[in-house]
Amino acid sequence: MPAKALYIHVPFCERKCNYCAFVSSVPKSGERTLYLEALSAELYMMAGKCRDPFDTCYIGGGTPTMLSPSQWRTLAAAIEKNFTFAAGAEVTVEANPNSMSREHLEVWRSWRVTRVSIGVQSFNDAELSRMGRVHCADEARRAISAALSFGFDVNADLIFGLPGQTFRSWGKTLREAAAGGLSHISLYQLTPEEGTPWGTLTPEELGDGYAPYRWAQWYLPHKGYAQYEIANFARPGHESRHNINYWRSGEYIGTGPAAAGYISGRRYKNTDSLAEYAKCLKSGRLPESESETLPPEKRAREAAVLALRMSSGICAEDFVKKYGAENYRAISAAVESFPQDLYETDCRGIRLTKKGMRVANLIWAEII
Ligand code: SF4
Repeated sequence: MPAKALYIHVPFCERKCNYCAFVSSVPKSGERTLYLEALSAELYMMAGKCRDPFDTCYIGGGTPTMLSPSQWRTLAAAIEKNFTFAAGAEVTVEANPNSMSREHLEVWRSWRVTRVSIGVQSFNDAELSRMGRVHCADEARRAISAALSFGFDVNADLIFGLPGQTFRSWGKTLREAAAGGLSHISLYQLTPEEGTPWGTLTPEELGDGYAPYRWAQWYLPHKGYAQYEIANFARPGHESRHNINYWRSGEYIGTGPAAAGYISGRRYKNTDSLAEYAKCLKSGRLPESESETLPPEKRAREAAVLALRMSSGICAEDFVKKYGAENYRAISAAVESFPQDLYETDCRGIRLTKKGMRVANLIWAEII
């Protein structure tokens, strides 16, 4: 298998946030051990199929810092036992401010972690509490400086469009993030997800998303963070290589409950249920619950949407080589049906302008 990227999903959280539809739950007694044993078995089975060294690894969730430092040592040992890494590999871990300890940072430093992505979301305590977050702004500040003091590349995730969020409070959060030594900032607009406490919020109850995003697109580059993807801004050389691989439709292995992977044109997803996941692996079966091999045209359209998320856009030469000239023409025509200030096109390819990124969902609907 030629995949050069590994994703590991840790399905635990201390409490569910009001907006969150990710697969995670509060761990019951013994579940973390059950998870680690099953994950080790899955890594072993996947290792038989994947001999190439990984360029990137991303351990996300859920809340990976719900695993104790000693459980992290077990996890790192299981990864090392089964896989190899290329020199200079990027290894990212996600962390929540209140559960990330100094001991976690020590384990990561002594292993091969290079990036820590912290779920800050806001520097406003009232907003954090409304979201149902388990930490306050001061804990986020302390987590960022602790991770920086260990020499990691640090990302902060932030959310805009929250109910009751003012333009002023968003501005304060973003200013503080940009002044805090981070190498990467990810911005997410709140979207009401079915089945979550905030799933029934009406457009009137949600905060405005357009103006805060537009301001961030202007402000962050002035502070040295270039927008390289719709939701992501980085100091030069600090872009997330793992995520760039997704957006370039590269292959990756996904492990852990609910993780998705993409190998040889086939997408698969593991079962969401930890019990089912552990049961499958105990009986020597991979825990896939669904998989599909995309027909070439659908593959081309999905690849186009992913590539257009990035400021570099679609590279015409690569795209035609991979998906054919006819698909490239169809995608160009779909993009060119929009007003000209939303995209740029030339012999190198097609890309969205900053304005185009602000209405990207309309463009995706036309392509897919
Ligand atoms: S900490 Fe993250 S994964 Fe867990 S419930 Fe909150 S948003 Fe979801």
